[in-house]
Amino acid sequence: MKVGFIGLGIMGRPMALNILKGGFDLTVWARRAESMAPLLEAGARGAASAAEVAAGCDVVFSMVADAADVEQVALGAGGVAEGARAGLIYVDMSTIAPAAAQSISARLLDKGVTMLDAPVSGGEVGAISGGLTIMVGGDAAAFAKVEPLFARMGKAATLIGGPGAGQVAKACNQILTGVGVLAVAEAFNFARKSGVDAGKVREALLGGFAYSRILENHGQRMLDRNFKPGFKAWMHQKDMNIVMQEAHRLGLMLPSSAATAQLFNAMVGSGMGEEDSVAALKLLESLSGE
Ligand code: NAP
Repeated sequence: MKVGFIGLGIMGRPMALNILKGGFDLTVWARRAESMAPLLEAGARGAASAAEVAAGCDVVFSMVADAADVEQVALGAGGVAEGARAGLIYVDMSTIAPAAAQSISARLLDKGVTMLDAPVSGGEVGAISGGLTIMVGGDAAAFAKVEPLFARMGKAATLIGGPGAGQVAKACNQILTGVGVLAVAEAFNFARKSGVDAGKVREALLGGFAYSRILENHGQRMLDRNFKPGFKAWMHQKDMNIVMQEAHRLGLMLPSSAATAQLFNAMVGSGMGEEDSVAALKLLESLSGE
C-alpha cells in the first residue's frame, strides 16, 4: 500500500515517521522545505504538491491546522482531488468543525475520493510514541483498509459513525480537555494565592477522585513553568470556537465550555497564542495579583 502524508508540523511529523518506521512506502509534502527535511532524511519520498502525493498513493493523510487549510489541501489548486487516482482514500486528521468535514467529504465523493475524518487526542507525546487516540467518521470499508496505518499512529482507533462523527467526538474531547486545563490552572492559582505549594496539592490529589491525565501531565508542565507547545493556545481557541459554533447551531447550553472559550480568547489577545494552552495559569496569575 502506498501512503501519502501532508502537513508535517508538531503532530504530523512524528505521525508520518511512525508510518515510515512501520515499513510503508511513504510520500510527503509540506509547504515549507524545513518541515519536509526530517522525513526525507528518514527515507520518505518528497512530492512537489498535494496533488502529486495523491497521484502516487492509495491512502493520503493530512494533518494541517483549520478547515480552510483542509479545504485548500483537499480541493484547492494543486490539491488532493486534482491528482487523485480512482479509489483513493483521503484521511484528514486535523481538528476541524464537523459540518466542514461533512461538506469536504461530500465534495470529494463527487470526485471519486472517499474521505475519513480522523482527528486525534494524545498530543505531541502521543504522536511521538504512537499512542494517539483516533476518532473516525466515514465509510466502514475505508476504515477497515486504513486500520493498519492507524495502528502505527495510535493505540486505539474507533469508528464513531458517518462523515463528521469523528470531529463530533473530538469536539467532546476538547470540551473535556479545555475545561480540564482551566480547572487545573484555577486550582493551582488558588493554592498559590493561599500560600500553599501547588506541587504538593497535585501530588495529594493524584491519589483521589480528582485524578486526571490533565492534572498529571498538564499540571506537571504548569509546575515546571514549561509553556513550550505542545498544543498551542490558538489551536485550543480554534477548537473551543468550533464547540461554541455547534452549540449555537444546535441550541445547546454549554456554560463551562463558554467560560473556557473566553479564557483562550484572552490568551490569544494577550499575546500567548503560540504558547502551550497550559500557559492559561500565567493569565490567571496575572489577573490575581502576587
Ligand atoms: P502545527 O505544528 O502548526 O502544524 C501544522 C502543519 O500544517 C504545519 O506544518 C503547516 O505547514 C501545515 N499547514 C497548515 N496549513 C496548511 C495549508 N493550507 N497547506 C499546507 N500545509 C499547511 O500544528 P499541530 O500542533 O501539528 O496541529 C495540527 C492539527 O492537529 C490541528 O488541527 C490541531 O488542532 C490538531 N491537534 C494538535 C494537537 C497538539 O497537541 N499539537 C493534539 C491533537 C490535535 P508549514 O510547516 O509549511 O507551515
